[in-house]
Amino acid sequence: MMKKKAAVLGSTGSVGTQVLDVCDRLGAEVVFIAAHSNIELLLSQINKFKPIYVAVTDISAAEKLENEIDGNTRLIKGYDAMCEAIGQTDCDIVFNAVSGKNGLLPTLSAVRSGKTLALANKESMVLAGPIVNAEVKKHNATILPVDSEHCAIFQCLKNGRKDEVKRILLTASGGPFFGYTYDMLENVSLEDTMKHPTWNMGKKITVDSATLANKGLEIIEAMHLFDVPFDKIKVLIHRQSIVHSMVEYNDNSVIAQLAVPDMRHPGQYALTYPDRCEGVISELDLTKYTLTFNEPDTDAFKMLSLAKECAKAGGIMPCVYNAANEAAVDMFLHEQIGFNDIYRVCEKVLSDTKYQPLYDIEQILEYDKVSRESAYSYKEKLTSK
Ligand code: NDP
Ligand code: MG
Repeated sequence: MMKKKAAVLGSTGSVGTQVLDVCDRLGAEVVFIAAHSNIELLLSQINKFKPIYVAVTDISAAEKLENEIDGNTRLIKGYDAMCEAIGQTDCDIVFNAVSGKNGLLPTLSAVRSGKTLALANKESMVLAGPIVNAEVKKHNATILPVDSEHCAIFQCLKNGRKDEVKRILLTASGGPFFGYTYDMLENVSLEDTMKHPTWNMGKKITVDSATLANKGLEIIEAMHLFDVPFDKIKVLIHRQSIVHSMVEYNDNSVIAQLAVPDMRHPGQYALTYPDRCEGVISELDLTKYTLTFNEPDTDAFKMLSLAKECAKAGGIMPCVYNAANEAAVDMFLHEQIGFNDIYRVCEKVLSDTKYQPLYDIEQILEYDKVSRESAYSYKEKLTSK
């Protein structure tokens, strides 16, 4: 593989650290790293990778780091400065592993400078898919999906023409509460929610995997990444997380991508694309697994049904869903609301929102803000019941 120059945004997170591990093992040069405030980990990453730039979006954390680094790494302070710098940095690939809606502006910055964007931040496509796609076209940029399912679909789509695709089969582990009814979910604890059966991920996405909101977001992500309508995406529960997703063609032949569940694979695939090289992940021994597939239970996992409605409606609704969910998950993680309250909050915020078509990024950020505030305002009502 050609020695590539990589930028890794969200380098201290679950995906970011795994992407850095891939860069390390495959000998890529890491020229830019960025995080919000975890300067302790950033410092050890600076010492190891010696990047040209380090961006810290929390200003007081950035000021603390300033005293610790030598002159070989340039410090970029603040969110806007990070977004601007990423567009101007000379690199072959930008990994966006920032969490939440804060991933949107770095995505736009990378795309508007015509870069290859390895996208883990699914919120970018959920909030602004049509806008991001228009910018990709305009600036001749490339997006390589790093979300494992979308990386799988991307690979499976190489086996036929777009007009031959019948359906995308998006797999989901089902999370720790597979088989539970809605009533059983009422009293599940935070601790049990954090026990994901197959993946080890950041806290927020672990909760989303338990409610299936993550799969809802991924439906919307897939619609925009692959330009497929809502009704051509089918979710299948696959407990083992070995089949990362599939594409069914019009001749009823189904192409699947399989690998052990390890986020370093989608990272490696993006880094080496269009080539492949010896793996950083372990070999898949299929004799060790029985692969199963089930329909999702949308009566129990209402966050999936809600996401489907938003996917169908389009416009601003996916943004509102995401914002309400981010706020609700935050309250759940602070043990301020219960598991099913996540759904109740999102349902309420969405039903209070009137549909609007997408106009621009300012509109999206405004809806994001208002929906979040509205979600937080339900906390008292829920806890006083
Ligand atoms: P984490 O919470 O583990 O990490 C988030 C990273 O983003 C951290 O490095 C954090 O820095 C950084 N960050 C947060 N806010 C900002 C900001 N405003 N500016 C710059 N950096 C910021 O999240 P994950 O790694 O779990 O997820 C990252 C993204 O990837 C999400 O969109 C998620 O949906 C997606 N994804 C994750 C998967 C996984 O396996 N975890 C799988 C598929 C997709 P700091 O540490 O300083 O706070
Ligand atoms: Mg995924």
